[in-house]
Amino acid sequence: MVKRLVLASPRGYCAGVERAVETVERALELHGAPVYVRKQIVHNAHVVRDLERRGAVFVDNVGEVPRGSNVVFSAHGVSPAVRHSARFRGLRAIDATCPLVSKVHAEARHFARLGYTIFLIGHAGHEEVDGTTGEAPQSTLLVETAEQAETVVPPQTDKLVYLTQTTLSVDDTDEIVRVLRRRFPAVEAPKKDDICYATTNRQRAVKRIVAAVDLLLVIGSRNSSNSNRLVDVARAGGVVAYLIDDESEIDEAWLDVVESVGLTSGASAPESLVRRVVGWFRERGVSQVESLDGAFEDVFFKLPREVRADGVTRT
Ligand code: SF4
Repeated sequence: MVKRLVLASPRGYCAGVERAVETVERALELHGAPVYVRKQIVHNAHVVRDLERRGAVFVDNVGEVPRGSNVVFSAHGVSPAVRHSARFRGLRAIDATCPLVSKVHAEARHFARLGYTIFLIGHAGHEEVDGTTGEAPQSTLLVETAEQAETVVPPQTDKLVYLTQTTLSVDDTDEIVRVLRRRFPAVEAPKKDDICYATTNRQRAVKRIVAAVDLLLVIGSRNSSNSNRLVDVARAGGVVAYLIDDESEIDEAWLDVVESVGLTSGASAPESLVRRVVGWFRERGVSQVESLDGAFEDVFFKLPREVRADGVTRT
């Protein structure tokens, strides 16, 4: 029977998600509904549903957006081809790409211009990977696993660099990089890690919490890469872990033989969901709720200029 609930810290919203969600809110204030958003603004079902109720319309591609409308690009970023399509349709683009994703795009452009082959470490089909690949499609080779790193064959071996998706497992990525370095000793690294501060801090917090709990719940949606990685990190640390969208997904059978439960949330999950899960445990008699200290975060990103001033810039 659960006696103790331990909250990881830091958890939940990162600066890029705060900025992206606020961008849609400000666009709705400035322009009224509907505001079109290409893809989910962040990978969280609750956030998306809430914004939909307020007038956001989520589409899979800019071809679905009526000509002349506003369209917000999600936190995961877009390829130049998507920007071009939006311009071609006369859409007014509001770019909510996280600045830390934009940094990886800039690295891809830079190295491709210099003739490098880029090993992009990431997950096929993830929007961020599609966007980064789109910056230098002829120069990029996707590497998803250490096994792929063992077999990837670049067209040349003089100029090689690796870049990564921002929300990967730090440990799995280190393993892939070790393989690439062994096979290609001259492979270069980005100046500063591409895995972002929020991903790193949340994974470190999970590593600390697994030493103190019997089971970990991670609040996040199925398509949230960084949330899934928190589950992976806990399981790699020997603790049973489950990804839940909210308290309705907790199976009480999981808790039968458990005394301490850890709780964390992915970078796209709002704190209100953590409060709901804490309430769920309190209703079941768990009165010992504590928080483990972790890294202090004070990262803040300015809103896109299109929603700072009134009026948007035509792409
Ligand atoms: Fe930006 Fe990292 Fe948040 Fe992604 S997880 S939006 S890269 S800060």
